[in-house]
Amino acid sequence: MLQTGCLYIVPTPIGNLSDISARALEVLQQVDLIAAEDTRHSSRLLGHYQISTRTISMHAHNEHQRTGLLIEKLKQGMAIALISDAGTPLISDPGYEFVNTCRAEGLNVIALPGPCALTTALSASGLPTDTFTFFGFLPVKQQAKTEQLLKAAQAGHTCVFYEAPRRITDTLKLCKEALPEHTHYVLAKELSKTFETYVSGNIDTLLAYLSADPGHVKGEFVLMLHCKTLQAAGLPESAISLLKDLLPLLPPKQASAAVAKHYAVNKKQLYELSLSLKTPE
Ligand code: SAM
Repeated sequence: MLQTGCLYIVPTPIGNLSDISARALEVLQQVDLIAAEDTRHSSRLLGHYQISTRTISMHAHNEHQRTGLLIEKLKQGMAIALISDAGTPLISDPGYEFVNTCRAEGLNVIALPGPCALTTALSASGLPTDTFTFFGFLPVKQQAKTEQLLKAAQAGHTCVFYEAPRRITDTLKLCKEALPEHTHYVLAKELSKTFETYVSGNIDTLLAYLSADPGHVKGEFVLMLHCKTLQAAGLPESAISLLKDLLPLLPPKQASAAVAKHYAVNKKQLYELSLSLKTPE
């Protein structure tokens, strides 16, 4: 039995249609209205499960306007489900303004647990999962993208990105250029689909996989990386501290060369660290 005047956040499959829960089907069947990112796209899923509930579009370009309309309907006592094209709504998908407004208006919001590329990829990655950061999609502009990647490498824990097939090779090339060599990567592709693949290793392993076959660049990707902090990777704390002191006074190359000589440590590692320390927050 559904609650009246309640918004249900309903995750839908990210590839395998059987990954929808019995409860999700029940909710989609019983709500008064389904707000869908793309009603035509979702009609395939709803048709497959013979769900004939009325749908209305709610996407990035009309969310503001739809929020007002749907809030009114919730206040009138309707039960509404929010779905996106695939996976969990609001996770790199529309719905934030709607849910935020529901909360501000004291309306009830219930989220169903379910498919999400982020948690699916992470749980099978073999990377540490005790702490992680999800970055969503990387910025398109090169400098902003480099900054995000450096931030991820400095985090010292697992970082997760969504990436489009047309950008994955360039992104990995940028990782090779900008990130420390000891960074460990896992690329999860086509989760829950026929050609599901995990590629794990250093940056050269991933680039070799992508260039081995044109088919390898097609599909949907989750990129994960884990870079031990340089301290954890063996740099003495005093060397890092001296580098931090020198950076305001010297260009990164000279500062890292001086510290490397003094402590007899790897110059390249220090140079990479100095670049990331110079990156604005
Ligand atoms: N809300 C979705 C979720 O819960 O995962 C994500 C939506 S976002 C617009 C789409 C991105 O998620 C894709 O570009 C890809 O990075 C990732 N993704 C979605 N389905 C995937 C799958 N089956 N395998 C790998 N990545 C997937």
